[in-house]
Amino acid sequence: MQRKINQKDTDKMTSDSPRCLMCGGVEYRSVFNEFGVDILRCKTCRHTFSSFSGDPNYDKYWGEEAPSGDQSYWDEAHARMYRDFLGTFIKGRSGRLLDVGCGLGFFLRSIQDHPGWEGYGSEISPAASRYAREQLGLSGVVCGRLEDAGFASDSFDIITMWDVIEHLQKPDPVLKKCKELLKHNGILFMHTPNVVIQVPKARLKKLLRGMKPGIGYLEARDHLHHYSSSSIRALLGRNGFADVRFVHCHPIQSVSGRKDAGIVGIKNMWFELARAIHRVTLGELNLDNLFVVARK
Ligand SMILES: [Zn+2]
Repeated sequence: MQRKINQKDTDKMTSDSPRCLMCGGVEYRSVFNEFGVDILRCKTCRHTFSSFSGDPNYDKYWGEEAPSGDQSYWDEAHARMYRDFLGTFIKGRSGRLLDVGCGLGFFLRSIQDHPGWEGYGSEISPAASRYAREQLGLSGVVCGRLEDAGFASDSFDIITMWDVIEHLQKPDPVLKKCKELLKHNGILFMHTPNVVIQVPKARLKKLLRGMKPGIGYLEARDHLHHYSSSSIRALLGRNGFADVRFVHCHPIQSVSGRKDAGIVGIKNMWFELARAIHRVTLGELNLDNLFVVARK
């Protein structure tokens, strides 16, 4: 659905109008318009989502062909974030980890430095999963939807989803599957943008630079749901997860190979500030990206 929705019209939606993922409501208002796609906010529960209808079998994120050329920027950009995760959850332990939506496989490769761990992955893109298997030697990567991947129930200590949940139009079946695949007391870890920051940031970019192709605003055609601490907590709760909490990892240090020392500095300063605010408010106010941990 790519029509423009006027704020006045949103009280009278028809039966084919999108229902709010979180509360089922059909009354919402547009909070941003990204090149013809409205970003909507539910009037009942304030959940924010894209009006763009995603394809549930979408597998073109990485394109038809295996990525070519040097992909190491991807690895470098995430290295600090992954190091924070590994230090907290992997180092000094052992087990089996599944990375859902593992992309090119760089996170899974970082697991290989920890001898007590076996890493597995699922990835819907044939090109990306081929890269992970053939270029990075990750034999545990399966191409396809998690629900069809054939992993055994109660077999993983940790399941990770880096920048995946916001792409799923219907996240509940995937979360239910994750719960099934985790061992008793296993943990699910997710990283996703925080709507509390993303919408104001998009508005600021629009104000300062206008709407220009190539600038990332809310990625309206890719990010179908925008979560907050409370909505992601509710989503996990209704899928049977407990002990939901938020941790902090350093942000991605560069994007698409472009390193701008000023922007990296600002990102890291913001991270330190957000982490301090989260601590001082005893978890009430989270202005960082959402790094969510939940227990089966
Ligand atoms: Zn709602």
